[in-house]
Amino acid sequence: MIPITEAIRIVLQHTSKLEVESVALSDSLGRVLAEDIIADTNLPPFDRAQMDGYAVRAADVSNTPARLQIVGESAAGAGWHHEMKAGEAVRIMTGAPVPVGADAVQQVELTREAKGGNEVEILERVDVGRSIVRQASEIKTGETVLRDGEDIKAAMIATLASFGYAQVKVGRRPRVAVMATGSELVDVDQKPGRDQIRDSNNYTIAAYAALAGATVARLPLAVDDTEDLKKQIAEAAGQSDVLITSGGVSMGVYDFTKAALQELGAEIYFERVALRPGKPTVFARLGNTLVFGLPGNPVSVAVTFNLFARTALRAMQGAKHPELIEETAVLARELKGSIERESYLPAVLRTDEKGTLLAEPLKWGGSSDFVAFARATALIDVPTGVKMIEAGSCVTIVRLPASAP
Ligand code: AMP
Ligand code: MG
Repeated sequence: MIPITEAIRIVLQHTSKLEVESVALSDSLGRVLAEDIIADTNLPPFDRAQMDGYAVRAADVSNTPARLQIVGESAAGAGWHHEMKAGEAVRIMTGAPVPVGADAVQQVELTREAKGGNEVEILERVDVGRSIVRQASEIKTGETVLRDGEDIKAAMIATLASFGYAQVKVGRRPRVAVMATGSELVDVDQKPGRDQIRDSNNYTIAAYAALAGATVARLPLAVDDTEDLKKQIAEAAGQSDVLITSGGVSMGVYDFTKAALQELGAEIYFERVALRPGKPTVFARLGNTLVFGLPGNPVSVAVTFNLFARTALRAMQGAKHPELIEETAVLARELKGSIERESYLPAVLRTDEKGTLLAEPLKWGGSSDFVAFARATALIDVPTGVKMIEAGSCVTIVRLPASAP
């Protein structure tokens, strides 16, 4: 049995980056950047008006009201490209270039047109620079604005678009095959017969794998028979970057997943992790395919997928931070840990009236209780050897991926 951090280290050690591909900007959301993003223009590209109003020389309006001659108009997309002289003003719109010679913009609300629009009265003085965003004051040409390995979030799209990234280089999506094992399983569209249950793990893994950026193929359900398992595993491994099985890895008489992997010549990197739930997690390589043999219980599947398989899938795409991000929350109710294993226990996050982030451990019946788990939004990390954590203590949590990044 190895510690979780060691297991994650091994996963990362055996995971290599996939190729880089180019996608259209409109398809880039949620992908991992595979290039630095460089500004190809200054921001703003010119001295830009921040208000609708009049471009003026501040010195001309130090005594108000001041009357100036309107000599032109500068609109967004159609600037006034002459030199503005003393005693003159240019009507200007938000986003338009400020003419040479002007050093401030007075907002239209503090002005009044006169002489049929030939002159303007500036009713209040302005400081030099008022309502002008200077050229390159935000970003200079050549600056790196986003970095290789960052997740592309919706907030980044404007940056990619503004610097001309019609195509964006990203890590290729890993191809994942999911394979539930267990002679008791029937598919979701079947009525379970005597002693049978519906498979849920294939769907859970497919959902989380998609959230991690992978494309997913669901394989037929596999029965607990070493020869059948070998056949299916070998076939799946040939067609995918990562094979994720569930079930058949504990100590039962019909737990054959590990044996099948071994007989196929897979290299097994670990097979037991000091984790609750999810001890019998297997990580192996078969040819060029990484294999995660996750336990059968549905909550163990969610936990082990997100700790190990998700990390590998994101590292394959080049993510700089492939692991779940750790945060701190206050425990809302006391919680029992385990002497031998580190626990990742399902919880609901909420904030109290003071704004404190609280983690409320789920009341659940253990790793088979997927109905209770359906409400979970996070996992609470309870270190090995901690028997009990009192309500009000600070705990480390990770949020469960819930929808596309
Ligand atoms: P196993 O590790 O194969 O012994 O499975 C542990 C428990 O998880 C058993 O109760 C199984 O019936 C259940 N289980 C295994 N695979 C699945 C699956 N694909 N969907 C739902 N439950 C499963
Ligand atoms: Mg089984």
